[in-house]
Amino acid sequence: MIKPLITIDHVNKYFGSAHVLQNISTHFNAGEVAVIIGASGSGKSTLLRMLNRMERHDSGTIIINDIEVDDDLRHLSALRAEVGMVFQQFNLFPHMTVLENITLAPRRVRKLSKEQANIEALQLLERVGMLDHASKYPFALSGGQQQRVAIARALAMKPEVLLFDEPTSALDPEMVKEVLDVMKELAKSGMTMIVVTHEMGFAREVGDRILFFDQGCIAQDAPPEQFFSAQENPRIRTFLGQIN
Ligand code: ADP
Ligand code: MG
Repeated sequence: MIKPLITIDHVNKYFGSAHVLQNISTHFNAGEVAVIIGASGSGKSTLLRMLNRMERHDSGTIIINDIEVDDDLRHLSALRAEVGMVFQQFNLFPHMTVLENITLAPRRVRKLSKEQANIEALQLLERVGMLDHASKYPFALSGGQQQRVAIARALAMKPEVLLFDEPTSALDPEMVKEVLDVMKELAKSGMTMIVVTHEMGFAREVGDRILFFDQGCIAQDAPPEQFFSAQENPRIRTFLGQIN
């Protein structure tokens, strides 16, 4: 049996009295692309945020690449290098150029020289089609361009897994494709990805699995062919009807 890259075992999360993740167990293998869908408030973002400890779980175990996600600071710093995250709102540093945004963490955390960090950053910018924009500031870029830079910035830490939380939801429609194309290329290259999205075309084409979240539970976990054909769960049918 292959050892999973990420193991989530009987994990619970409460906000006050709200039980937002209810005894979740699943695992993700290296190279897998998992797509998470589900209604607003079903716990999708909370799960992603727990994987890089932006949010703590209340019980259960999360292990990523043999590192337990807990309060141990050594675990935390190792984890931050293994898990990259791309947000809906890009979150680039506004006062830094594209190149500075990408090289900051590799220089600080991976201790790369400025020269080496620049070389790697330019390669990543080429990969996301943004090489010509290295010296620009975020405000001078479109949303789609900013999100491609954010992906390059996440990749610069050489993470084992990339988490995407609705990466195209804040974009104008004409910019969605350029970001999804970069994500598809990453998936093809073998990157492990967990992607929260409503882009069902992407889910169908690129996803190895689709997980449907419903009120803090994983209500279904199936390959796309199975998930989209003859869907018998009425709550999933309703959800799919609403987003299409
Ligand atoms: P999704 O990403 O699926 O829309 P979230 O994970 O953001 O859902 O939220 C799950 C539930 O937890 C929602 O009911 C939300 O209101 C609640 N929640 C999320 N973050 C917080 C927080 N920091 N404090 C209190 N409640 C929160
Ligand atoms: Mg969310």
